[in-house]
Amino acid sequence: MSALDPHDESHAYQFCPRCSGPLERRELKASEPVRPVCTRCGFVFYLDPKVAVGTIIQATDGRLVLVRRAIEPGYGKWVFPGGYVDRGEPLTAAAIREAREECGLDVRLDSLVNVYSYPGRAPVIIVYAATALGGTLCADDECLETAEFDRATIPWSELAFRSTHEALRDYLSGLRHPIPS
Ligand SMILES: [Zn+2]
Repeated sequence: MSALDPHDESHAYQFCPRCSGPLERRELKASEPVRPVCTRCGFVFYLDPKVAVGTIIQATDGRLVLVRRAIEPGYGKWVFPGGYVDRGEPLTAAAIREAREECGLDVRLDSLVNVYSYPGRAPVIIVYAATALGGTLCADDECLETAEFDRATIPWSELAFRSTHEALRDYLSGLRHPIPS
């Protein structure tokens, strides 16, 4: 079965979010993707990327924090804490918030690891390197468990997403960028 994020299933939108008229797919410019357009009010439904943040958190003795997902996509697989950025929310605030919500840790963001995007997929994932400052490791309603892994025991074959794999690989290879202010 497809593990597509619901945000990737843009074909599912049928009605105008502004006037609830029926949408139809139209080519507005030859160089651009076909876009849903309202047949009643003319609203163009631009399906923008979804911005997500994640944190690779160093905790006790340099071990890394991963959470096991209790929701689809990626149910039962491991990922570092993260989630979607709310509109108007600074990226760094979202990263700190998600770490607190998903695994109970207060973190300091140390650097930007990298930014990940893939053809045909809605999410753009911004991944930070972080250090745990406090809090208690726990699981929220979106994860089955949280655990700390040392670098040799990361469950590479049970990671949830391509971005999880690539960001951990980049992190462990030492890739770091300054956090844009
Ligand atoms: Zn409309």
